[in-house]
Parts: sequence; C-alpha cells; structure tokens
Amino acid sequence: MLGPMASGKKNGEAKQPKAPTLRADIASLPRYVPGARGDGRQLWKLSSNENPAAPLPGVLAAVADAAADVNRYPDMYAVELTETIARKLGVAPDQVVSANGSVAVLGHVLSAFCQPGDEVMYPWRSFEAYPIAVQVSGATSVTVPLTAEARHDLPAMAAAVTDRTKVVILCSPNNPTGPALRDDDVRAFLNALPSRVLVILDEAYVEYVRDPDAVDGLALLRDFENVMLLRTFSKAYGLAGLRVGYAVGEAGLIAGVRAVSTPFGTNALAQRAAVESLRREKVLLDRVSETVTERDRVLAAVRRTGWDVPRTEANFFWLALGAETDAFVRTANAAGLLVRGFSGEGVRISIGEREANDAVIELLRSFKR
Ligand SMILES: *Cc1c(COP(=O)(O)O)cnc(C)c1O
Repeated sequence: MLGPMASGKKNGEAKQPKAPTLRADIASLPRYVPGARGDGRQLWKLSSNENPAAPLPGVLAAVADAAADVNRYPDMYAVELTETIARKLGVAPDQVVSANGSVAVLGHVLSAFCQPGDEVMYPWRSFEAYPIAVQVSGATSVTVPLTAEARHDLPAMAAAVTDRTKVVILCSPNNPTGPALRDDDVRAFLNALPSRVLVILDEAYVEYVRDPDAVDGLALLRDFENVMLLRTFSKAYGLAGLRVGYAVGEAGLIAGVRAVSTPFGTNALAQRAAVESLRREKVLLDRVSETVTERDRVLAAVRRTGWDVPRTEANFFWLALGAETDAFVRTANAAGLLVRGFSGEGVRISIGEREANDAVIELLRSFKR
C-alpha cells in the first residue's frame, strides 16, 4: 500500500520538513516559569506561594497506605473526593470535577468550551498559566490591564466583551498582585455580561481571604449558572506536590468538562490525601490563619519602611518594581531569598516561614531604590 503515498510524497518532497513540526502557535508559546529551585545554598523558597508547613502526619499516613495499591488504576471519577468536596461546599457531587491540579482543570474547561476564533478574556497581569492554557485550547487571549491599585478593571472587561467572547477568567485574590475581587463589583459585572459567556472564578487562594466584602464564589454559583469556580489543594491544603484541583459549576457544564478530562487524571495518592485533608480541615485552616497573621505582620513592617504594597488577601504580596525588578531579584537571591520576578513589572514574594519573612523585611529595609 506504499504505492500511491510514496508517489505523492515524491512530488512534494522538497517542501516537506525533515523533522516533525510543532503547531506554529505552540512553538512560539511562552514557557511556564516554575518557582526557582535551590542551588545547594540555604535558600528560602518564596517564589511559588507554597504552604511552608509540613504535611499533617495523618495525611502522610494515608498517602503511604494508598501507595500500597498503586499497581491499580485510581477511582476514575474520584467519587469519594468529589462527594467529600460537594458535601463541604453544599453542592451536588455532579457539580464537581477534579483533575491533576487546577491548572489541568482549567485546560479541560477551555477544551470543553473553546474553538479557534473564540475569545477568552482575563485581566493582566494575572496568573501566567492563563495565556498558555488559552493558546493550547486554540482560542484567542484578550487581556485587560489591571487598575493602578493592581485590581481587575471589571468595567473595562465588561466593555471589552464581543460576540466572540466565550470565556472570562477572573482571579481572586489575583496572582501575582494580591487584591481580592469585591462581591458587589463581580455581581454588577455578571449582570452586565451576556449569560452565554462562561465566567471562571479562580479561587486558588480563597482560604486566605479575610476581607468581608470579598467575592463569595459559592453564593455566585447559586445566582449565576454561567459561573464556574476553580479551586486547588496546592496552597492552603499544602498538597502542591501531589497535584489535585477541581472545578465547581452547573452540572451540565461540569459533565462536559468531565468528558474531555484526562482519564484517571486525579491520581490515587492525591485522592486519598485530599480526602484526609478535608477531614482534618480545621487544623489546616488554623495554619492558614497563622499565615494570614504573618501576612499582616509582614505587610505592616514593609509599609513602615516606605514601600507601597497593594492590599493582599493571599499568601503573597506584590512590589511594582518596574525597571528595578531584575536587580531586586538578584539582590534577594544573594540574600538567600528566592522570589518571583516579572521582568520590567515587579516581584511577587510568598509569605513563608517566620525566619524567611524576617529576612524579607530586612532586605526591603536595606534595598536601595
Ligand atoms: C497556584 C495557583 C493555582 C493552582 O494550580 P494547581 O495546578 O492546582 O497547583 C491556580 N490558580 C492560581 C491563580 C494559582 O496561583
């Protein structure tokens, strides 16, 4: 059967590449930059917004127990985890879908909703996974600049909606700048939006929010069928290394997301660890409260030294260093602090161990601007 193909190939041979070629839009994709790694020195990793506390002993024991069965596939639909999450949130189990981290869930959502030509709108700067996920889905990114207070500009986003707008992503608190969206503002935004537009509210840091006026995602779900929440076990629950996140939304939409999800995408250890973490939620949320107390201490100290820091409701804060960003990152690294720089824009610093936070305060006191 080589005949016709071989002769066809002969005609076009000169034009054919010698190696497999990536999709042009994928070849040019910005690469996700993970938080920096240590280089052997004693370094404080404040570049990935991780939870610095060690996993709870009971969670570790459950993971070890689950490890005994890793010759078997995990529960395909993570039924126990999905039901545990649903019970906690007061939704039905068919409104929840998990995957290998909430970034993977986002990819699944976009592939379930988007086609080439569709637009996905999000604020910028925001989470750097968004442009990548949108491009992979084949849709087109539309970005709307943050306000001077490093907040989403919701009126400008509403005004930028077109007939092609398929999805809007909101991030509250916004990574990397810190402010949480206000409930009133989001409701006004949703009321101004055509109900055919899917609105994804990324709540990766929701457990750290203390502002009483902040958006209440679960209440929004009840009032707007076009809202979907994204949540993760990577931050407050301290399971970044196991990869588990989920989406919550209207059951019909979630069924579509489930249909495109990677089979068995939530691994067996992650399922067990997440269930056990929800059982021990009180202890974990007490730890979150300690981080919030640290955040308030660090921010007060940093502001006292004259830095202008946007309000943050997350476990990190933002310094709009502009052209000084790279120099600051180098100085921080030399001081044993790994922070996340966005060249030309600013630096995101996670709240970590108390000793690390003290080193940050000291650095900001001495850094010459
Ligand atoms: C850390 C983070 C996530 C979590 O991603 P996982 O894939 O669940 O680890 C999602 N969204 C934002 C904005 C984040 O900062």
